[in-house]
Amino acid sequence: MQGLMMDYPLTLTPLLERAPKFFGHKEIITKAGTTLERETFAEWAPRVARLANALEKLGVRRGDRVATFAWNNARHMELYFAVPCMGAVLHPLNLRLPPDQLVYIVNHAEDTVLFVDASLLPVIEKLAPQFKSVKHFVVMGDSVPETTLTPVHAYEELLRNASDTYPFPNLDENQAAGMCYTSGTTGHPKGVVYSHRSMVLHSMGLAMSSSFGIAESDIAMPVVPMFHVMAWGLPFACIMVGADVVLPGPHMQPRDLAELIQATRVTLTAGVPTLWLGLMNLLENERYDLSSLHTMVVGGSAAPRFLIEKMEKQHGLKIIHAWGMTEMSPLGTVSRLTKAQLQLPEAEQFDLRAKQGMPPPGVEIRAVDEMNQAVPWDGKTFGELQVRGPWIAREYYKDDRSANSFRDGWFATGDVVTIDAAGFVQIVDRTKDLVKSGGEWISSVDLENAIMAHPQVLEAAVIAVTHPKWQERPLACVAPKPEFKDTLTKKDILDHLRTRFAAWELPDDVIFIDAVPKTSVGKFDKKVLRAQYRDYVLPER
Ligand code: AMP
Repeated sequence: MQGLMMDYPLTLTPLLERAPKFFGHKEIITKAGTTLERETFAEWAPRVARLANALEKLGVRRGDRVATFAWNNARHMELYFAVPCMGAVLHPLNLRLPPDQLVYIVNHAEDTVLFVDASLLPVIEKLAPQFKSVKHFVVMGDSVPETTLTPVHAYEELLRNASDTYPFPNLDENQAAGMCYTSGTTGHPKGVVYSHRSMVLHSMGLAMSSSFGIAESDIAMPVVPMFHVMAWGLPFACIMVGADVVLPGPHMQPRDLAELIQATRVTLTAGVPTLWLGLMNLLENERYDLSSLHTMVVGGSAAPRFLIEKMEKQHGLKIIHAWGMTEMSPLGTVSRLTKAQLQLPEAEQFDLRAKQGMPPPGVEIRAVDEMNQAVPWDGKTFGELQVRGPWIAREYYKDDRSANSFRDGWFATGDVVTIDAAGFVQIVDRTKDLVKSGGEWISSVDLENAIMAHPQVLEAAVIAVTHPKWQERPLACVAPKPEFKDTLTKKDILDHLRTRFAAWELPDDVIFIDAVPKTSVGKFDKKVLRAQYRDYVLPER
């Protein structure tokens, strides 16, 4: 027997249509230089319609890819809905990728129109001759500045000349709505194509109170760039629930963020740990009123336990640790404690909150050994995390590497984890970052987090270095806080680790660096360190 319910397609269009009806007075606030630009949802929706008309006039048809090269700003929020709701595919480009990768991505996705922030024009001008499919460039401003790009249009001019109503089509929910390429992989980036259905379900997943818990009462500030997994899906979730949106533009230094939170009374924000480590250091010397914030979602890399504890105890700021991937839209797990866990002693609660947490409904998990057999949920046994669910990719876009990662209906994440009896996932390492010492595995993430808890350390990364006897041994690369640059020693670091780690787990050497290199999305880039110290000769222990 079949259910007798409507077959109502899950597309982004109803979210676009309901926002001005129910939440017309809500705002998208963008930091532009020293001013705050404000656009209400009632103003935003007709501009989205104008943009859809303009795109159609430029020749954009169903399924065409429309690229953006832009910071987090209100025009980007207009593109986020105009492109998918007219039936085309939104493709935000990562501003920090090296030129060869950008060219590869634009050509691989076959982008037809490229929107670019005026401040970023020089980058695109250099690459444009190598783009094979781009037919139009649009500068996201009032007019077109001096440029070599052609044909080129001004965003505001296109909108001025377009109607503010658009007959948004009825779309199939499985149609492509957006695409993002994974960062940090070796070889060419891999394309992930989200559907309308996956995006709507993912937005609902984000809104659940056991997840990010975004609500109408929130003022949400995605600091995570709109090119990094669609700002983790936050713009869609905010429009869906009617939360105000605050966008920092290019102003993402700790002081900019603190001022913006204070000025706009942000309640919920999200970004990678390096951002919040920076904010924490700032708060040691400067005072801001951040009391409006009730949730800081931290993900993309492991949130160190000391960051979670210190932010809460010293600054009253609540970090919620989450894990995800481009292939997962990105929501995978969230570390919100259950009723029972909230009864545990405080130290155990912080231990749990430093884990990556539990998957929301919609994400199924398992960890498997080398024989692809599920490992027990005992919080100890290592396995590779596999996932499946309605907002998880089933293959990469036109890429024969898909077979390596997608098997038997599961996506193999490449993350090595333990899962405890409560279903809390802890990321031990990326498969390739684990230090394989003799028969034992050492988690580089555990060592890094412990080193970064040292009060004189700014950042630390641990990498595997080849060893004649043990195959690999850990090398700690430590960036001291500037004021301790000349005084912090190897012995200080090793003594600090000795209480928490067995002797065989300790790094064989500690070297001091100015800063840990970062990837295009602000994560530690261990590839660079590995290449730099490939031939490093470790001292005798
Ligand atoms: P990306 O697709 O660029 O967002 O990268 C996804 C990868 O980032 C995951 O496979 C993890 O290795 C890592 N990652 C994301 N969130 C976390 C987290 N909370 N803790 C540890 N690693 C994380």
